[in-house]
Amino acid sequence: MAYNQLQALNQTVSDTHISEDKDIWQYSWGKNFSSSRAYKIMMGHTQHHTSIQWIWKTPCQPKHKLFFWLVLKDRLSTRNILRRRNMFLPSYNCVLCGLETEETVQHLFLQCQFAKECWHILQIHIPSDVDFPEVMHFLRDALQSQFYMAAIILMSWAIWTSRSACIFNGLVPSVDYSRSTFYRDRVSTRHSQLFDQWLHLIS
Ligand SMILES: [Zn+2]
Repeated sequence: MAYNQLQALNQTVSDTHISEDKDIWQYSWGKNFSSSRAYKIMMGHTQHHTSIQWIWKTPCQPKHKLFFWLVLKDRLSTRNILRRRNMFLPSYNCVLCGLETEETVQHLFLQCQFAKECWHILQIHIPSDVDFPEVMHFLRDALQSQFYMAAIILMSWAIWTSRSACIFNGLVPSVDYSRSTFYRDRVSTRHSQLFDQWLHLIS
């Protein structure tokens, strides 16, 4: 093996063209730095679901965007994720419905009866067995609005807030609580009036 490696090195050296020009440092794509090209080279060409890009174009607050990015990437600290990280909890089940069902992203935001009732506020009926990120196209088509992504993110945030209030503050899960969270959280002021008008129409 060592002999073969030496042969390969010899070949590489003999193939190398040596010029008299002065050496210069430059990026593999050219002279000027480009953060997007550097990112592509360092991160490879991983395929992302198209809905990941929808997040960054919404008028939502940065904390809501980051939260939903974690949802789509299945990185949100649900009890399922905590179990996968070997964190001990007395129960890994969903607290919103009381069923013996593990709290996964799919259950908490889509399949739980509590989540389904929250989506009803936006006149959306979540089908069985759908999951992120594939469900995003269904939700977009169901909402039929330029604000579809803001509504999806804020409703998911409202469900997450109800879940956290139950676990950390002992509040009984309530769809009205989610509804008030949804209406209280604002998109950026430039869009808030149009967003409110649209919400008024659908709910
Ligand atoms: Zn549940």
